[in-house]
Amino acid sequence: MLTMKDVVREGDPVLRKIAEEVQLPASDEDRQTLQAMLDFVINSQDPELAEKFELRPGVGIAAPQIGISKRMFAVHVTDEQDQLYSLGIFNPKIVSHSVEETHLEGGEGCLSVDRDIPGNVPRYSRITVKGTTLEGEEVTLRLRGLVSIVFQHELDHLNGIMFYDRIEAFKDKLKKELPQ
Ligand SMILES: [Zn+2]
Repeated sequence: MLTMKDVVREGDPVLRKIAEEVQLPASDEDRQTLQAMLDFVINSQDPELAEKFELRPGVGIAAPQIGISKRMFAVHVTDEQDQLYSLGIFNPKIVSHSVEETHLEGGEGCLSVDRDIPGNVPRYSRITVKGTTLEGEEVTLRLRGLVSIVFQHELDHLNGIMFYDRIEAFKDKLKKELPQ
């Protein structure tokens, strides 16, 4: 079972690497790892288990966050329409996205970041993601709102990007748009 001891924190170079594609069909080892990541996220949202094992509640975790530089992540999150997205995904890819952007009110947090970093993190409002589930099924997911933001946060981890990188980018963009 994964605990916070397995979660690497900012400063670890693995969080800055471009993760490698997972060979499909996934090996037993990769599937077991992804299942353990999904279990971790589910457990972290259970108040009793979270307290017992000192888990920080999270809605997603990407393989680089446990020191494995492979393109896979797990999410367990309920959208605004009360639909639960609970899955592990291999080699996820954004195949299209809205022009419109959004952000999470109150900013984003990350299991690999032990400090509060305020600021809006710009994200696409809607994305279409292709990938292969833990069960080996090829899927195309059309996502919006919170779930779309969570997927983009986890996808960033596979490309060595931390959420706060985008806060800076946002500030720079605003600066450019303002009259000098
Ligand atoms: Zn994160």
